[in-house]
Amino acid sequence: MKRVYNFSAGPCMLPQEVLETAASEMLDYKGSGQSVMEMSHRSKVYDGIIKNAEKTLREIMEIPDNYKVLFLQGGATMQFSQIPMNLMGEGGEADYVVTGEFAKRAAKEGAKFGKINVVASSEDKTFSYIPELDKSKFSKSAKYFHITTNNTIFGTRFTELPETGNVPLVADMSSDILSRVYDVSKFGLIYAGAQKNMGPAGVTVVIIREDLIGNAPANTPILLDYKTQADQDSLYNTPTTYSIYMCGLVFEWVKKLGGVAEMQKRNDAKAKILYDFLDKSKMFKNPVTPKDRSMMNVTFVASSEELNEKFIKEAAAAGFVNLKGHRSVGGMRASIYNAMPREGIEALVKFMQEFEKVN
Ligand code: PMP
Repeated sequence: MKRVYNFSAGPCMLPQEVLETAASEMLDYKGSGQSVMEMSHRSKVYDGIIKNAEKTLREIMEIPDNYKVLFLQGGATMQFSQIPMNLMGEGGEADYVVTGEFAKRAAKEGAKFGKINVVASSEDKTFSYIPELDKSKFSKSAKYFHITTNNTIFGTRFTELPETGNVPLVADMSSDILSRVYDVSKFGLIYAGAQKNMGPAGVTVVIIREDLIGNAPANTPILLDYKTQADQDSLYNTPTTYSIYMCGLVFEWVKKLGGVAEMQKRNDAKAKILYDFLDKSKMFKNPVTPKDRSMMNVTFVASSEELNEKFIKEAAAAGFVNLKGHRSVGGMRASIYNAMPREGIEALVKFMQEFEKVN
């Protein structure tokens, strides 16, 4: 068996150890005589799995007691709708910072439910930086303030969180949750699709301060009212049982390695290897403002379109797969989430050095 180094933006690499545990438990989960996939979500054994996943996530993110953790469906995209549905209120408004394609989609969806103020945008330079925030543009009556902490497509991240006072900060953390330490108490709501740093696709984690639950209008579809799943520990209906189990294994893995602070240390060191190379290279360059560089998604271009294509093809043949940049920006992107080992990046840089020499 040969496993490739998979630089996909998500779904992406999972820790090998986690996959091995899942494989060993596939046919008989801890003496239950069944696979987790086959279990009733109402069974005692599954209840232990989902409760334990939540408990471990609370531990590694230090989630305060006045926050609920929800395991939902519909991807991060569903949250673009569910957040305004629940938080905007009648005739309400909300602030958004537009730093990428997903932030733009979130703001556009929000506008169906109330007034959206785009506080700042970096679209003028194809989202290659994080804009400065002018506090005088923040709306005092905003019901929430939305940011995307890490921009998966463009490879930027917020290095400083906006100070929003009493306005709840809402963050799409899909592509950097568990990769670095965030103080959960600074947020009203955090959401993230699982398929980058947490597990397989299918489940979306929402971490929500309790006072923000229970404010949805009466005609909100039952499954889109946070209160429904908050009151039922995410078991109002059938959850994505297997994905949640896998997330639980990943949370345990993070904890065992030393927690989120240790992941951050490793991730910063991993990204530095790649950025240091890009800064020295005569062929490749990173198009992002250096201070706003993502530690999860490293974008780069070669000196011509032909070289980009040649590079992606030859890299794939050498076992470095999914390096093609997002279809909207082209070039290359190496997504280096928690499960990408340091050796994968070292090997990629070595390959890039060779490619540069030969071409
Ligand atoms: N937000 C961000 C930052 C993302 O990277 C993605 C997907 N890659 C999404 C939202 C959309 O997530 P989903 O496909 O789970 O709806």
